Amino acid sequence: MMDREVELLAIGAGPSNLALAVALEELAPDDLARNSLVIERAEAVQWQRGLLLPWTKSQVSFLKDLVTRRNPRSRFSFLNYLHSVGRLDDFINMGSFTPYRIEISDYLNWVADSLTKVRLELGQDCVSVEPRRDASGSLNGWITRLGDGSAIASRYLVFGAGRDPHIPAVFAGLPASRLIHSTQYRPRVAGLSRELPYRVAVIGSAQSAAEMFRALQDDLPNSEVTWLMRAIGLSAYQTSKFTNELYYPSFVDKFFEARPEGREQILREMHHTNYSGVAPSLLESLYSDLYTDRLAGLNRKRLITMVDVAAAREEADEAVLELADRRTGAVTRLHRDLIFLGTGFAKQMPGIVRGLGAALGLAEITVNRRYRLALDEPSAAACYLQGVNEGTHGIADTLLSVLADRAADTVADILAHRPRVKVNGHRPADSSALVTVRVPADGRVGR
Ligand SMILES: Cc1cc2nc3c(=O)[nH]c(=O)nc-3n(C[C@H](O)[C@H](O)[C@H](O)COP(=O)(O)OP(=O)(O)OC[C@H]3O[C@@H](n4cnc5c(N)ncnc54)[C@H](O)[C@@H]3O)c2cc1C
Repeated sequence: MMDREVELLAIGAGPSNLALAVALEELAPDDLARNSLVIERAEAVQWQRGLLLPWTKSQVSFLKDLVTRRNPRSRFSFLNYLHSVGRLDDFINMGSFTPYRIEISDYLNWVADSLTKVRLELGQDCVSVEPRRDASGSLNGWITRLGDGSAIASRYLVFGAGRDPHIPAVFAGLPASRLIHSTQYRPRVAGLSRELPYRVAVIGSAQSAAEMFRALQDDLPNSEVTWLMRAIGLSAYQTSKFTNELYYPSFVDKFFEARPEGREQILREMHHTNYSGVAPSLLESLYSDLYTDRLAGLNRKRLITMVDVAAAREEADEAVLELADRRTGAVTRLHRDLIFLGTGFAKQMPGIVRGLGAALGLAEITVNRRYRLALDEPSAAACYLQGVNEGTHGIADTLLSVLADRAADTVADILAHRPRVKVNGHRPADSSALVTVRVPADGRVGR
């Protein structure tokens, strides 16, 4: 038995589903918007809360907010947020297109508070999703199970819960207490003693590893931090205004239509514009930090490049990392208390989505151009995946760049998929997935 039922359930209140909620409020008929629920496992809406550091900035223009590209006159725009909280003058005076991350985070929270039709519930942790079937076995909805044991049924499901953290297999033998993935940085560091001289390793050579390395000097100032990476050294994102055009929402069509070799080349060449690089301004300040550390003879910070962590194990109350030097082949051991992982996100679909795919018997989890999960059977229900379709929709899929347009595509697809309705009391032949709709006088039914 279901604890409750909504027409549309969106899992996760990050940028993806907040953009969706805004699109539902502005584009969908009232009965759909008011019968839509967004659930979020955290107790507050925040952007990338684990690494929400006060000095970090968004890498994307504020004009690529949740809505402006789709509807520049929307009341949910970043500019209206600044105006509402009295910070428009300050922001203009800063003269920057890229806000601080804490500003974006506050904007998301403001949008969540400003919704008037779509409901949002915090502290609701989705643990699994399964298909719902009628007596004849036809798929007619989804059952979302929550951590508290309750369940929510819905005809439409929109997954926007982000990607799963990538923890390289070599660290599997270490206790969880020694491993801190970047998504957990702030809460985990808050639980450590600022005074203790921990021996720390940071793993990875991209932005999240760089931010943790930089933040650790303030958060654990007495610690000795060794930064390990396979790369020959740190480099900046290789981006330009030319390659940035591939982040345009209009490029999604071109990517989607590309043949496999074309997609592979685009993703390979674009990799250095988003992954495996560091923001140039951060690189400069990291080098200064390292320089002054050496100048003062402290030697608390160390970079070890061209190295693989070949093994990791717990020994005599410490973590022992076996490091294989890629240049010489030599193997050395490094003894640490804590390992900070800037190792990014898993490439495969998130666990919840894979679980649903298995329950549906899908050999492959993929979506159509409008983000609808491809099913092997006729269905009165539909499921949408947001932010996890880089392979089919291009490199911008995980970013803010395409949010406004993607939300509009998703809502348009839902509205087109919604014909089996009880219209002014008359039921269509297939009543397996009925939704009651009051048709307005002009006869429009959600299109
Ligand atoms: C540190 C960092 C910095 C970034 N900076 C930028 C940037 O500058 N510009 C840019 O364009 N992109 C940036 N990104 C990429 C980022 O993925 C997107 O900006 C954006 O956050 C993606 O939004 P999302 O809603 O798809 O996922 P997320 O932002 O990950 O939001 C998912 C939400 O779902 C919730 N959730 C997760 N699991 C569950 C569950 N089981 N039940 C209920 N709720 C759940 C989470 O708590 C979270 O609130 C950054 C990523 C990171 C990690």
